[in-house]
Amino acid sequence: MHSWTSPALDPLPASGLPLRLFDTRAGRVAPILPLTPGSARLYVCGITPYDSTHLGHAATYHAADLMRRAMHDTGLEVEMAQNITDVDDPLLERADRDGVDWRDLAASQVELFTQDMESLRIIAPETYRSVSEAMDQIIAVVRTLHERGRAYPVAASDAAGPDWYLDLSQDGALGDVSGWTEAQMLEVFAERGGDPDREGKRGRFDPLLWSAEREGEPAWDAAELGRGRPGWHVECVCIAEESIGLPFDIQAGGSDLVFPHHDLSAAHSVALGRPFAAAYAHSGMVGHEGEKMSKSLGNLVFVHRLVHEGVDPMVIRLVLMAHHYRSDWEWTAQELEQARARIERYRAAARRGGRFPTTVEEMRAALRDDLDTVRALEALDAWAEVGTATGPDAPDEAASGPGDVPAALDALFGITLQG
Ligand code: ZN
Repeated sequence: MHSWTSPALDPLPASGLPLRLFDTRAGRVAPILPLTPGSARLYVCGITPYDSTHLGHAATYHAADLMRRAMHDTGLEVEMAQNITDVDDPLLERADRDGVDWRDLAASQVELFTQDMESLRIIAPETYRSVSEAMDQIIAVVRTLHERGRAYPVAASDAAGPDWYLDLSQDGALGDVSGWTEAQMLEVFAERGGDPDREGKRGRFDPLLWSAEREGEPAWDAAELGRGRPGWHVECVCIAEESIGLPFDIQAGGSDLVFPHHDLSAAHSVALGRPFAAAYAHSGMVGHEGEKMSKSLGNLVFVHRLVHEGVDPMVIRLVLMAHHYRSDWEWTAQELEQARARIERYRAAARRGGRFPTTVEEMRAALRDDLDTVRALEALDAWAEVGTATGPDAPDEAASGPGDVPAALDALFGITLQG
């Protein structure tokens, strides 16, 4: 799948200092020490393309973009992969409801998503692959799991053959990422695509591996497992393996993916006999009008709609920066106004020129300290205040050399002050 055009990158000379990031599995902030010296591999879970980018998505991909920029700033080459869940219940249901082909719905929403990513100046992943594109590899992995004795059938009354589930009891990998109790898992499993009470399952949290063909649904031939389509979690294992390889450094996504998606993706990988991600990074949820932004509540704020209404995408990025990536927060019109005023101050400061090496070092230090954008904004606000004043943070008169704040804001945080 075509991704999108990345913004021009003009990195600062490498700092050589590692990014420290909160690892959900370890439960603490730890330095990212890449598995392959000199290069880092990042996987970020992609969208189900049936409703274009809302601000919750934007926050997730913004956080992953900052991880990437932060690792690049330390001197690492970064390789990134992202999937598109284009074969999934909600997408098929929406296509059915609207009387459109699921492929056309997916293509139109992927198009909107890539436009939004481009306007937000998110660096494009090297691999951007949909489930339908990766189907041959997914089928091969599903069959391998079957050969390894990890898959078992569950009778399906509305299909010609059985559905297949992954037997989690054999590897004891459940909860490896989340560290949750079964009671905590049960609280969210059903609302996040699971079926804890389905008759015939060996374990409540065993994930659907291969769903038998139903009338009117797309299906592919998986030999001894019959015609059907894959469950949700196996796709990221396959797409990660064929693009960045297993194991890799960081799996990233929204905090609603900790369980079941990231726990069960890792469990699939363990069942294949392969380690998965070394660290897991999760971004917070964005609320609106007092609730988490979600399709079911109908309180989504879309990036493309804001841009269409004339909101500068850099202002949207500044709103995202005003909240630590791991915190849950609420989108309001006031946030937008504050960010608008802020970018005007920054643009005025950029026009005044000057070199501020201390500010740039503060920005870099904040970024590599668990992507502390709030602290980076404090440094930027102080820079914008200083103007032409004298003192320790006053501009260095040198016309070149370190301390170009607008260039650092672009390289580290993806915000251009031009325009
Ligand atoms: Zn995923």
